[in-house]
Amino acid sequence: MASLRTIEDALRSVLDRAQPLSAETIPISDAAGRVLAAVARARVDLPPFPSSAMDGFAVRAADTPGTLPVACRIAAGAPVSAPLAPGTAAGIATGASVPNGADAVVPVEHAVESDGHVEIATAVQSGAHVRPRGGDVEAGDAVVPAGARIGAWHIGALGAAGVGEVECARRPRVAVLATGSELRAPGDDLEPGQIFESNRLMVAALLAAAGAEVVLLPIVPDDDAAHQDALARGLAADVLVTSGGVSVGPHDLVRRLAGGLGVEEVFWGVAVKPGKPLSFGVRGRTLVFGLPGNPVSSLVGALLFVCPAVLALQGAADPGPRYEAARSARSLRRNAQRDEFVRARRGWETDGVVVDPVAGQESHRIVRAASADVLVHVPRGTGELPAGSTVRDLALA
Ligand code: AMP
Ligand code: MG
Repeated sequence: MASLRTIEDALRSVLDRAQPLSAETIPISDAAGRVLAAVARARVDLPPFPSSAMDGFAVRAADTPGTLPVACRIAAGAPVSAPLAPGTAAGIATGASVPNGADAVVPVEHAVESDGHVEIATAVQSGAHVRPRGGDVEAGDAVVPAGARIGAWHIGALGAAGVGEVECARRPRVAVLATGSELRAPGDDLEPGQIFESNRLMVAALLAAAGAEVVLLPIVPDDDAAHQDALARGLAADVLVTSGGVSVGPHDLVRRLAGGLGVEEVFWGVAVKPGKPLSFGVRGRTLVFGLPGNPVSSLVGALLFVCPAVLALQGAADPGPRYEAARSARSLRRNAQRDEFVRARRGWETDGVVVDPVAGQESHRIVRAASADVLVHVPRGTGELPAGSTVRDLALA
């Protein structure tokens, strides 16, 4: 491992090769978590007509204060009614169309109705409690930009603006493979020397949350034929992620065998702790990530590089990783050569987010990592960051 890439260089190399996949049209009911390939524009003005913001009485502001005959009642959904005659009021429901001629709504709480008349004691301003046509968005205006990852609130906006279908990049197919003769599926019985496999399922869950369609490949023992078979299958996907077998031991076969199947290695070795021996290559348009086997190394590698790649393949404008600012509860020793990601709990204080490292930071201690909420980024360098320093972190939850 001659020279290690910085995490920034490594991420750039990955994202440069993650070109957006082809787009498809999907209903907005299926669009949560997908990335828009083209801007979605409003089909109508929103609101489509001047509408009442309150239950009350539509009036001409100039007729207030005063006692006005109630000419009609307008319900939500009723067709546009006749113009309001001067000197009259119309009972109106929230969301109903304000008639021509009326320029204000007096809330029912501010009016007294009796004998077919309504008494309005104080003057109201023109425009009061009327939502103007197009006040939220006008027909043809952008509702959600291309590259946005669609959340529930976007679906609300799209629906309101009459957009029933959107164009999104198809979901990347990601094959996930675990290597190691010592690995058994959780639920099996362990023989001496064996451990339970965790990375494949963890990485699969992370990537599914990033929008991938995950294909789980089997756990393969450390022999050439088993590796070749599984790697060849995985190379049919848009992304192949392997776990284990990318270090320097005699049983670390992934890089050599992937190379034999035509994978061109772009880099091997990142200046990050944990996760140093991570490898990245390409075969055609398939991106190939070799994550180190220690579970926390796999977690960090997947969050730093594979999730952003999966989002970039979907055309995300901001594929991440997305950091947030926090303050460290304790001093953090810096590693001279490598950026470090420290598992920590997150708390909220009046002056912001505070992160406190959990005990047990070794890269095999995935159960300790499970007690954390964030990965705190400790940039490479000398000395330590004193307690109270501003740091950035990646949310796990
Ligand atoms: P490797 O990167 O293959 O040298 O593995 C490094 C360490 O991670 C070893 O202790 C392996 O037993 C462990 N390991 C490798 N793959 C997995 C996995 N999928 N799940 C849990 N532990 C693993
Ligand atoms: Mg191994």
